[in-house]
Order: sequence, then structure tokens, then C-alpha cells
Amino acid sequence: MTKHIIVIGGGISGLAAAHRLTELSRAGPVELRVTLLEASDRLGGVIATERTGDLLLELGPDSYITDKPAALRLCERLGLTDRLIAPQHSTGLKLYTVHRGRLEPLPEGFLLMAPTRAGSVLRSPLFSLSAKLRMGLEPLIPRRSASGDESLASFVRRRLGREVLERVAQPLIGGIYASDPEHLSLAATMPRFPEMERRHGSVILGSRRAQKRRAQSTRETGARWSLFVSIDGGMEVLVRSIEEALEPDTVRLGESVRELSWNPDARRWRVATGRNGLEPRSGELEADAVICTLPAHAAANTLARLDSDLGNELKAIPFSSTATVNLAYRRSDVAHPLDGYGFVVPHVEGRKIMACTFSSVKYAGRAPDDVALLRCFVGGGLQPHLLDEPDESMEAQVHDDLRALLRISGEPILHRTTRYPDSMPQYNVGHLERVERITSKLKYLATLALAGKSYRGVGIADCIASGETAAETAVKSLTSWRAD
Ligand SMILES: Cc1cc2nc3c(=O)[nH]c(=O)nc-3n(C[C@H](O)[C@H](O)[C@H](O)COP(=O)(O)OP(=O)(O)OC[C@H]3O[C@@H](n4cnc5c(N)ncnc54)[C@H](O)[C@@H]3O)c2cc1C
Repeated sequence: MTKHIIVIGGGISGLAAAHRLTELSRAGPVELRVTLLEASDRLGGVIATERTGDLLLELGPDSYITDKPAALRLCERLGLTDRLIAPQHSTGLKLYTVHRGRLEPLPEGFLLMAPTRAGSVLRSPLFSLSAKLRMGLEPLIPRRSASGDESLASFVRRRLGREVLERVAQPLIGGIYASDPEHLSLAATMPRFPEMERRHGSVILGSRRAQKRRAQSTRETGARWSLFVSIDGGMEVLVRSIEEALEPDTVRLGESVRELSWNPDARRWRVATGRNGLEPRSGELEADAVICTLPAHAAANTLARLDSDLGNELKAIPFSSTATVNLAYRRSDVAHPLDGYGFVVPHVEGRKIMACTFSSVKYAGRAPDDVALLRCFVGGGLQPHLLDEPDESMEAQVHDDLRALLRISGEPILHRTTRYPDSMPQYNVGHLERVERITSKLKYLATLALAGKSYRGVGIADCIASGETAAETAVKSLTSWRAD
């Protein structure tokens, strides 16, 4: 008998879940009908690419990581391998940081927080002499005696000193999560660093060993992909390709899920929906299993009546808001050589921008040679108030920062601001324990799975893995099928 599975949310997590269900259904272990409900009028969630004249703007993400295999494998199955592109000049370009109002290259060999090349740190103007000495002493700092989670800020201060936190770890790692490092959970975001402390007694020694192992394995196996890749027509190509691979009647746009309830007699789910202003009616659908990929705060609203404890745990995951501001300039108006992928901005520098990608340099095909396309990030856990500003004022402030840092003489020839309210889950200290509690509360609801950015990874590769795993779990819960 055909089983009906509803996927809630049409971001990359929901799309990956719906796609995996479609694959499983076509492969034959179980006959499925799949419905994907998306509240807005488009698929992709925070993934959005816009073509404007000769420019290709990434309004949200611009790439994904390849050392977590799920995204790469999905692209292979979708026939996108030939369209994947590595950053230009993969080995030669720098990442800059702002130091005392100027762009300085991050020292070579810095692995997120850990310096692996003494020479480049010693020569760098980013750190005071005492900070350099402090870093050098890291292998002698005793291991942490307490067990359990710790904040990123506490860990970096303890092992490498305040300046490494302020100048490197906060803008690089805090920036990825748009978070305050004083709250960010190390276990949930960078588990390899406390593991290095446990195993090697030092993140510097641990990082050096990891680097050597990676170099050796690259030599032996020949790495096919760079660490990050994008797609030649932009990240939305991935969204369109998944959509095309689904059965034609799978996706229902403008359908906002209001509530999930369980009908124990029929052993089926009821999914109450409202049409997001597209039609003034609400509906109800029934399903044998449900995969909810909504951000935790939205999932909490749909589940609160079913299980208030579960709803409260989900609601307790905080979110920050961000915006991207894409600005294009005449290349001749920008004095900086733009010989890098972009720059990050330590919070202590007091700027509006958190980070900036030199989009026209990083990936080919984003802008003609005479245009500099720059994508800036604003807001996050440390500067939420900036998002209260209207677009024009935010763009003007970003332009002021860029003008000073990149020595820009002209006005932007294009500006595009995209807001992502409550979009970045904050993996605060204790996050993994909360996710464990959420998972154990779901055990009695075997045919309901949660997936997406809120739980075990915010990156696109993590989200795809979570959607696919949820799809396999849902099929398992309905049949005797087992994943290999
Ligand atoms: C600006 C920005 C840049 C980023 N850059 C990168 C990057 O370069 N690389 C990388 O790997 N990651 C990046 N990330 C992170 C990554 O893109 C996201 O974590 C990931 O795409 C989230 O996917 P998702 O499906 O879990 O959630 P979302 O994309 O948030 O999708 C959730 C979907 O649910 C829908 N929805 C909400 N409520 C309801 C409801 N009640 N009923 C039905 N539907 C509903 C929403 O409309 C949305 O479409 C970035 C994130 C942001 C915000």
C-alpha cells in the first residue's frame, strides 16, 4: 500500500529529504507519495541566487564544504558534477582581516583558531609580542580538568590567549555562526579542538598533525575537490535540480503548516495548513509519516499542542538575524588589489560589516572584469540592532566601511540587501544536550522526524545529511526497509 509522507519546509533540508524519499520510492523498497509543504512562494529557503545583467548575486550561501560528503554526493546523483566550480586561484589567494582600521592578511597556516606556522605568526602585525609568546606556550598549558561543554571564547582564551580570540576565532568561527563566542558551544561547533586538547594536550600540535595527515592523504589519493565548491550558475541551481528530480505533484508552495496532531486510531498524522495569503482558506492533510525541517522556533509552534515539553525545548534554541548586502562598484573605483577571497572583521574593530566576500574574485562568472562585486554580512548575535535600520541606511553604512577599507572612490553601481530574520540557530553551550533531549522526546513519535539547521550543523552539507537521514528514518519507521 502506498504510504504518504509529508515534508514540511522547502529549504535545502526539506528538499534533500523529499529527494531521498523519491529515490527510495523509485528504487522499490517501498511505494511512497511525497508532499512537500513550503510557506513561501519559492523553494530554497535561505539559498537564493539572482542574475542582474552581467552579475550573478548570491543573496545567501555561495558554496558548500566538500569534506562532509553529503552535498557532493547529492550533486553527483543530480548530474551536477560538471557544473561544480572551485574558488579561483585555489592556493594563491589570501583571506584578510581588519586590524586597526586596515586590511591585513591572516597569517598563513592559521586553522580557524590554531596557528600551525610559527614564522608567519611571528612576522604578522596582528598580534602583540606578548600574544605571540602566549601562543608559543600553548603546548605547555595543562589540559582542562573539567568535563562537559565550554564556550568558544573560554576555550580560546584559556589555550591561546585573548588576542587570538579577538583577532581570529571570534571573526572566523563566531562569524560562521553569526554568534557571540562567549555563548557559542565548542562541542556543537568545533568538536575537533577539545578532542585535540584531550589527545595531544595542544591544539597547535593537534592541528599540525591533522594538517600533515591531510597533506599525505591528498598526495596518496589525489584530492579531486577543493575544500569549498560552488555551482557555475549559483547555488540556486542545486535547488532547481532537486525540484526537477521530484515527482511533478510533490511541491505545494504558499502552504504554511500551523499544527501537527496525531490521530492514534488511524495511526496517522494530521497536518493543519494555512494558505499564506495566496488563498483565504486553510486545509488539513493526512500522512503516515512527517519530516519537519522548519527552523526550531517554527517547528515549536507546530508541535506545542502535541507535546508542550518538546515545544519548549525547541523554542529554547535561540536564533540570530543577519542580512547580506551585495554592492557592485566599477573596478577602477576600487584601489585595493582585491587579491583575496575577502575579509573578516573582528568585533573589537567596531565596524558594521561582519565579513565581506570578494565575489567577483572568489568564483568565476560572477561579474565582468571591470566590476568589483562584494557581498557583505551584517547583524548576527553581536550586532542585532543594525537590522533595525532600513535598507538604504544599512547599505550606506556598509558602503562607508568598504570605502574606508578598500579605498573606494565611487558610488555603488548596484546594491541589493537581503534580510534573513531569525535564520541562524545559535548553538550555545549545552546545545548538544538539548538536541539529545529533543531526540529522546521524539522516540515515542516514531513516524515524526526533525531535520535541518537547528540541530547538528548549519552548513548546507550538514542540512542535506540531516534531511536524507530523516527520510531514511521515516521510511524505516513505516516498513522493514533498512538503509545499507
Ligand atoms: C546569509 C547566509 C549565508 C550562508 N552561507 C553559507 C555558505 O556559504 N555555505 C554553507 O554551507 N552554509 C551557509 N549558510 C547556512 C545554510 O545556508 C543554511 O543553514 C541552510 O541553507 C538552512 O537550510 P534549512 O532547509 O535547514 O532551513 P531554511 O533555509 O531556513 O528553510 C526553511 C524553510 O521552511 C519554510 N517555512 C518556515 N515556516 C514554515 C511553515 N510554518 N510551514 C511551511 N514552511 C515553512 C521557510 O519558508 C523556508 O523555506 C548561510 C546562511 C545564511 C543565512
